[in-house]
Amino acid sequence: MEKKIEFGNFERPYICSKCGGELIFKGVGEYRCEDCNQIEYDDYGKVRLYLEKNKSANMTEIQNGTGVSMKSIKQMVKEKRFEIAQNSKVFLYCEICHTPIRMGRFCNECEIKYHRQLEANMRAKSREGKEGIGMGVKGEKGAKRFERE
Ligand SMILES: [Zn+2]
Ligand SMILES: [Zn+2]
Repeated sequence: MEKKIEFGNFERPYICSKCGGELIFKGVGEYRCEDCNQIEYDDYGKVRLYLEKNKSANMTEIQNGTGVSMKSIKQMVKEKRFEIAQNSKVFLYCEICHTPIRMGRFCNECEIKYHRQLEANMRAKSREGKEGIGMGVKGEKGAKRFERE
């Protein structure tokens, strides 16, 4: 049995299906046979080619049309290897709010919120470390009392 190629290589072809010659990488998922010039594609090449002809295809259609596994297709979208056409049917969902998105893991809004949250967490942590919990609050109360008197 053939050893499964490590995930992320997108099933790169090595041998020409026509003559058995060696395939040379040409770029964007395309490989050309040294001997007979036959063009072969890896998963990325197949999906890319399919999307060129079927711009509004959804994931199931891509899977059926190319024979590429759903896992590979999702992985490629997450790695932002291609963007799904604007008029495409729902393709991916934001992992936080489940809004349909065209690429990546989050919608724009959640991506911003997510980063804000990370920043806030980091700031809170560094504050705790420097001043100790509660010192900022005490200082504020003290200041107000002072103003009133
Ligand atoms: Zn060949
Ligand atoms: Zn979202």
